[in-house]
Amino acid sequence: MAFATRLALREVSLEECTPLAEPGFEEQLTKLQEMIAPLLTAEETGIKLDEEKCSGCGNCVVVCPVDAKTEHDTAFGKAARTGETVFRVENGIALIINLSKCRRFPPDRVNCRVCEQGCSAGAIEIW
Ligand code: SF4
Ligand code: SF4
Repeated sequence: MAFATRLALREVSLEECTPLAEPGFEEQLTKLQEMIAPLLTAEETGIKLDEEKCSGCGNCVVVCPVDAKTEHDTAFGKAARTGETVFRVENGIALIINLSKCRRFPPDRVNCRVCEQGCSAGAIEIW
């Protein structure tokens, strides 16, 4: 259980589970590789933002606590100016411009889903 939790948090890799490397566990290994593939993708790309669904409302900029901390005024609906926020709306579409600042990723690893919950268009998906 402890290893599985750390695996989900991307603190360890599947290859570090030595019993899985033993003969007879090939099927389980394959299934687990399939299951954690989205997590591995999340590590690289993090939050998925579907531009086709985005209405450009800017709510993701407003609700993201990192954006509010980086640019205080974004929490009050002001557009991001510095290029240091996680989100920015350009030409009517939200962009993720600084994913590495998201609280979900190291070193914070906070299970934040505020932007996903705040996007009424369903344009943000977090794995
Ligand atoms: S909250 Fe959703 S719809 Fe609004 S700008 Fe952000 S991603 Fe686009
Ligand atoms: S998950 Fe949280 S910290 Fe990360 S971009 Fe969304 S609201 Fe901001």
